[in-house]
Amino acid sequence: MEEKLTHYPMVIGKDWIATGSEDLIEPATGSPFATVALGTKEDVDRAVAVAKQAQAEWGKLSYGERSAALLKFADALEANSEHLARLESQNAGKPLKLTTGGDIPFAIDNLRYFASVVRRQEGTAAGEYVSGYTSLIRREPIGVVGAITPWNYPFMMAIWKLGPALAAGNAVVIKPAPNTPVTTIELAKIALESGLPAGLINVVTGGAEVGEAICTHPDIRMISFTGSTRTGRRIAELASPQVKRVTLELGGKAPFVVFADADIEAAARGAIPAAYMNTGQDCTAATRIYVQNDVFDAFLSRFTELTQTLKVGHPFDEMTDIGPLVSETQRLKVKGFVEEAKQQGVKIATGGTLPEGEGFYYPPTILVEAAQSASCVQEEIFGPVVVVNRFSDEAEAVRLANDVPYGLAGSVWTTNVQRAMRMSAAMECGTIWVNDHLPICSEMPHGGFKQSGIGKDMSYYALEEYTIVKHVMFDVTGDQKKAWHSVVFDA
Ligand code: NAD
Repeated sequence: MEEKLTHYPMVIGKDWIATGSEDLIEPATGSPFATVALGTKEDVDRAVAVAKQAQAEWGKLSYGERSAALLKFADALEANSEHLARLESQNAGKPLKLTTGGDIPFAIDNLRYFASVVRRQEGTAAGEYVSGYTSLIRREPIGVVGAITPWNYPFMMAIWKLGPALAAGNAVVIKPAPNTPVTTIELAKIALESGLPAGLINVVTGGAEVGEAICTHPDIRMISFTGSTRTGRRIAELASPQVKRVTLELGGKAPFVVFADADIEAAARGAIPAAYMNTGQDCTAATRIYVQNDVFDAFLSRFTELTQTLKVGHPFDEMTDIGPLVSETQRLKVKGFVEEAKQQGVKIATGGTLPEGEGFYYPPTILVEAAQSASCVQEEIFGPVVVVNRFSDEAEAVRLANDVPYGLAGSVWTTNVQRAMRMSAAMECGTIWVNDHLPICSEMPHGGFKQSGIGKDMSYYALEEYTIVKHVMFDVTGDQKKAWHSVVFDA
């Protein structure tokens, strides 16, 4: 008898809505492992209506009350973290090592951070800026926030949006990526079980149609989006007629710049997680490694050697370093970039051939000395493929590092502290690492320059994104005719 697949419903208010059905494919096998409900514009309308109601009460709670509720939610997620990690690995193809040791606990820490930091939220001014008046600043919640997330870190991206949005007093309608909705649905159920009011987190599943319904809904006041630059442009366009607030966390093409004075062993070791974490499906992944001429051969040979020791395998195998790509579509895209590079005569130090067998696997691949204008250097590949190129001096390193439309993150490897400071200032990226690449923390902001986006995730800056600044001005004189009236009116 055929086994019935688990069906994941949407969560709207306190209801689970199971209408519609799409297969969810397990990247490790290429076969369906579950089905998910399919939302419509009407589901978005219902979700926004309940979110609006819930927000009216939630926004009135004191910071301490909101904080306590979110901390309970974080505890409930932690109690379910093993289950969430397994689901995330099955749905997105991520090594269990990564979801257990990284994605899930880090996202929970992020939620706890926002639950805590909201208690120090304050206006920056309270004073007599005009004689006879006292001014103060309030930070108000925005209302209902629409959140749209990608498939590469489904749980983490959901929490990056929900944490600051809820802490700031908003309610959220969230649409996960169509192929990786499972942990977002689970977290909404856990939120209800933990006692978070119904309607604060509503999950509507589906693709672009549901996303566009969120972006154009008149009662959604802000869109918080993480995904590709192409979709980000469309979202900004859709949000503009109603002048909605938008934060856009978009693509990246991070440079990793190795100077001859760097610790080359440290740089080669650092390049491994930098390039291949999450099978390279990471917006901050090092995708362009620039190495100064004198140490180019030494770096490339050590990096290649280390790459060849990586274990590509099933996400649930504890030896696995690199899991499958998220989908066959993504694998074909990655393969396309590598084939094009081969045709352009780019050398391949390792990898570059599609393995046989089930699942969407692709080997870690190093392309060597591609032209700066080549698509493998300019465009997001979003797979375990990295280009290693040369540079001669610091000026050329800056020019090459900045010569892409993106500016999310980058790193510089050097033992010269003045050079590290100069490079950090000159590189056009939202995050710069010195002698490392990739680590992030809840307290520090993440967000891009140029076409990598607008606004910040994580940190106090993100909390501010989800509030509106209000100036309140008190007359403290009690005068019926204020002094300034007579500037124009004598009456
Ligand atoms: P994508 O842009 O294809 O999709 C992202 C989300 O947008 C999905 O939920 C999708 O259904 C939705 N969407 C698609 N078309 C839409 C439309 N017209 N209107 C509204 N919503 C729409 O991105 P993806 O392929 O899922 O994710 C990979 C991308 O995400 C990469 O470019 C990566 O760099 C980026 N990313 C950026 C960050 C960051 O913090 N900057 C983090 C993770 C991923």
